[in-house]
Amino acid sequence: MKTLGYYNGKIAELEEMTVPMLDRAAYFGDGVYDVAISRNKRIFALEEHLDRFMNSCKLLRITPSHTKEELASLFSSLLGKMDSGDQMIYFQYSRGSALRSHTFDPDMKPNLWVMIKPMTLKKNPKPLFCMTMEDTRFFHCNIKTINLIPNVLAAQEAEERGLDECIFHRGEEVTECAHSNVSILKDGVLVTHPTDNLILPGIARAHLIRACKALGIGVEERPFTLDELMDADEILVTSTTKLICPVVEIDKKPVAGKDQTRLSALCTYLWDEFERETN
Ligand code: PLP
Repeated sequence: MKTLGYYNGKIAELEEMTVPMLDRAAYFGDGVYDVAISRNKRIFALEEHLDRFMNSCKLLRITPSHTKEELASLFSSLLGKMDSGDQMIYFQYSRGSALRSHTFDPDMKPNLWVMIKPMTLKKNPKPLFCMTMEDTRFFHCNIKTINLIPNVLAAQEAEERGLDECIFHRGEEVTECAHSNVSILKDGVLVTHPTDNLILPGIARAHLIRACKALGIGVEERPFTLDELMDADEILVTSTTKLICPVVEIDKKPVAGKDQTRLSALCTYLWDEFERETN
């Protein structure tokens, strides 16, 4: 198949799939999701994605109707139906289906959605041109919910300005990006926002931290400011679908580019790890 949609057991090409109007995702955005990538039908860091998915369920009081093992085996059988090439695997639980009411039955059976589509993970991604924007999101950014309106609007604004990503800040404090995490290198140390309720605990960010530790690069998990961002030696954007990309421009000003040695060691480390685990 070229693309694949799965909804509670039904499978077809994505364009042919429909979902019921009573699915609470449709009118409340009441659900959680996760995104992983596969190469050679092997899903990179699947265990970490499943752990985060289960944690998002717990925080949103959605009772999973699958174990992690059942989900892993389902994804593997769905990937088996796909054409060759890198794939993006999106999976989502909506809380369930019911007539519209804010309150919910805590035992409601969730609806499982899976969407698989081809993607190309580029080994040497181009450096990113970014903009900044006040972070107007809520205080549950650690939960990977499907409520992404501020992220959608920020990503759209960046694209309409010919840019790659939008970096959010709350006042002076940099949080993360519209669809990725952002960290800086300064004086040989990686500084990255702590995993509190203001950012998504990115899987690629976690791999970046482990890469730093393996390479003897210090890590400080603390908030950093817009001034620190603009003055950083390097700026690193991480996400599952980009892995790691350097930033070279923010708000039309040239930035970073001052610690290419550590930057390229980190990029190489993360790419080698990805290629090893999906080989
Ligand atoms: N932050 C936000 C808001 C995101 O949407 C994403 C990815 O979708 C990330 C961070 C990066 O997370 P991950 O590395 O798990 O893909």
